[in-house]
Amino acid sequence: MYNFEFVKPSTVAEAVSALGEEDAQALGGGQTLLPTMKQRLASPSKLVSLSGIADMKGVSADGGVLTIGGGTTHGTVAAEAGAYPALADLASHIGDPAVRNRGTIGGSLANNDPSACYPSAALASGATIVTNTREIAADDYFQGMFTTALNEGEIITAVKFPIPQAANYQKFLQPASRFALVGVFVAKYADGVRVAVTGASEEGVFRWSEAEEALNKEFRPDALMDLKVAPANMIGDLHGTKEYRAHLVGVMTKRAVTAAG
Ligand SMILES: Cc1cc2nc3c(=O)[nH]c(=O)nc-3n(C[C@H](O)[C@H](O)[C@H](O)COP(=O)(O)OP(=O)(O)OC[C@H]3O[C@@H](n4cnc5c(N)ncnc54)[C@H](O)[C@@H]3O)c2cc1C
Repeated sequence: MYNFEFVKPSTVAEAVSALGEEDAQALGGGQTLLPTMKQRLASPSKLVSLSGIADMKGVSADGGVLTIGGGTTHGTVAAEAGAYPALADLASHIGDPAVRNRGTIGGSLANNDPSACYPSAALASGATIVTNTREIAADDYFQGMFTTALNEGEIITAVKFPIPQAANYQKFLQPASRFALVGVFVAKYADGVRVAVTGASEEGVFRWSEAEEALNKEFRPDALMDLKVAPANMIGDLHGTKEYRAHLVGVMTKRAVTAAG
């Protein structure tokens, strides 16, 4: 490891100020950033830890919306997001206990790994990503693999999830990494069903609009019988071919609808 400066501010304003310096980078739980630094794929001159900012931590439900602080760990979401059981369940299956004790929802959404679980929940829930400067709708936030609408130095301070009538997340585990080989989050709201798929596409997390249309007519797994996603844009690697992932999208969506229904 090379030398770098480390600061741990206690307010968002102090963190924003520290991140204004050249080559400074936010540190959430460090579950992605620290291994990346060890491999010399990132070399910030200053790490600005967000873990001392009390205002960025915690889970609360009010008026049908679950709000999670950007610095809240997966373990805390698993334990405290009972108002949105499918989300708590998703958090409880991220990685292993060490990852869940350190990794944060803000870090996960900022990183936007194409196989991460939270992006599918945020997109399927029509969540709002709250930053130190603005609020971004999930539909506008995810912009491809490891790419988001965040600007340099912008901090995710909270995420707001409208609580659905029914929801479920199904993850086909990649056993070595514990990330999703394919994960599907289905959420049913009074104004319609949303289906978001992670792990599968070369474009990152995406909404499966044909499945949403079919499920809006009939919220049953049989409604998806004739639907398939095209393999062309799927990820193909040593863990699974494009065709395998395309097939899994259908299977996991049906399972999610069955479990939610
Ligand atoms: C063994 C292992 C298994 C895992 N399994 C899964 C899994 O099954 N599913 C899954 O979804 N994830 C999984 N992860 C990833 C895990 O969820 C991490 O929490 C996630 O990668 C990043 O969160 P973090 O808080 O550790 O962020 P960090 O590693 O600290 O930071 C990641 C990036 O986000 C930025 N950042 C951090 N916080 C913020 C913020 N609040 N605002 C703006 N930018 C910010 C950092 O600058 C950095 O660019 C796994 C990780 C490991 C190591």
